[in-house]
Amino acid sequence: MEYHPASEINVVVEEYLNMCVETKNNGLCKEEKETVDATGLPRIEKAYSTVLSELGEDVDREGLLRTPLRAAKAMQFFTKGYKETIQDILNDAIFDENHEEMVIVKDIDLFSLCEHHLVPFFGRAHIAYLPNKKVVGLSKLARIVEIYSRRLQVQERLTKQIASAISEALEPAGVAVVIEATHMCMVMRGVQKMNASTVTSVMLGTFNDDPKSRKEFLDLTMKK
Ligand SMILES: [Zn+2]
Repeated sequence: MEYHPASEINVVVEEYLNMCVETKNNGLCKEEKETVDATGLPRIEKAYSTVLSELGEDVDREGLLRTPLRAAKAMQFFTKGYKETIQDILNDAIFDENHEEMVIVKDIDLFSLCEHHLVPFFGRAHIAYLPNKKVVGLSKLARIVEIYSRRLQVQERLTKQIASAISEALEPAGVAVVIEATHMCMVMRGVQKMNASTVTSVMLGTFNDDPKSRKEFLDLTMKK
């Protein structure tokens, strides 16, 4: 998201590495601990074991011993957005403010799973809105993207859901959402070149009605 000095990025990398030292937390990394649903886990684990066997793998070989469990936890993490609601995160985060200028957040990283192949697609979201009294902390826009992208998705619906959530929560004069993403299901099957990305957009209110606002948003976000 936006500009990060190198020192800040190092902290993020370090946090991530710590998070995934499995042995520290009974075999669960920190993030997983919050998202794992222990009830469903054994059944998903068993299903992954079946998938591996059916692919001709020996599920008892050393490298695969804990793979079904790891894959099950990872899948629960990738779909943790089902358990989160927009209300939860926006509850105390909306403020009254006499600000009418366009608010833009560029380059919000997103990681999702395509619902047709269960294979990742990932890229960036750019969001803008024209406040009508209500504003929200910028980091919350990134959280909205996260909640909807950590579900099984198609890119068009993801784009729409983000725009609708902002529209409903802030009742702004306009909302614009653009997502640029690479779909591994297309890249790995050779349908799409490595660096090709799919762009989807949803323009509501002023961004839909007024070409000037739309152009301003696109000029500010899509410039390489
Ligand atoms: Zn796909």
